[in-house]
Amino acid sequence: MIPDDRDQESMSTLNFTDLGLSKPILRALTDEGYEYPTPVQEAAIPAALDGEDIIATAKTGTGKTAAFAVPILERLELGNERYIGALILTPTRELALQIDKSFRDYGRHLDVDTCVLLGGVKSEPQIRALKRGVDVLVATPGRLLDLMQQGFVDLGRVETFVLDEADRMLDMGFVADVRRIVSELPRDRQTLFFSATMSPGVRSLASTMLTDPLQVAVSPPATVADNIDQRVMFVEKAHKRDLLADILKAKDTGRTLIF
Ligand code: AMP
Repeated sequence: MIPDDRDQESMSTLNFTDLGLSKPILRALTDEGYEYPTPVQEAAIPAALDGEDIIATAKTGTGKTAAFAVPILERLELGNERYIGALILTPTRELALQIDKSFRDYGRHLDVDTCVLLGGVKSEPQIRALKRGVDVLVATPGRLLDLMQQGFVDLGRVETFVLDEADRMLDMGFVADVRRIVSELPRDRQTLFFSATMSPGVRSLASTMLTDPLQVAVSPPATVADNIDQRVMFVEKAHKRDLLADILKAKDTGRTLIF
């Protein structure tokens, strides 16, 4: 599926072969029906294959998952010995499951083991999977920290770390957890940092974990939708409710959302 908001002009003229991908991955992308890389894939895949750090402004729907999953799958050394070579931290259960599925889809012609750690479900099956050994670990911060503290997760051999949806991590109050997890990662690693928006808070988080990163931006910084009018009104605090009531009573006020 091609995301709705991509027009044909933003389609790449390069194809996946030009990005230097190997046959098992090219076959998997063909199985998915992908013909051309999306802009974030075109920019990020070659740099990530070269081992560079990346900071990308890209929201869900831009193809960002393949932008990090494909180079990770290419770079993993898949052998008999299973260890966590890639860690992907993401804020929600839904995203974790989606990312795990993407790794399994893009890696279907490779011998790759993935594991997803998320809260709200029993931890025993997750612990069993960790004990069997995994190549790619996808996790939400709370459950990962919990299992790290119980000694079930060894992050000492992680080669690539992905922080997905960094802005939502901040909004959801996960920053302290993320920092604790990152402090357990090897210093000598690749970091791929994705966020839909780049606020000063996000930049400050990024600055602590990236080394000379390639910057990729495929969507403009947060903008207001075209059909929203904005006005600023200065009013004494005591009159705020009256003003709000007047605005709501005005004829042209339709359905209204108040923060
Ligand atoms: P994501 O932004 O990673 O959540 O991806 C959004 C959607 O785009 C998913 O349904 C992907 O399967 C799809 N997608 C990702 N890359 C491509 C591509 N190169 N061509 C067509 N569809 C893609």
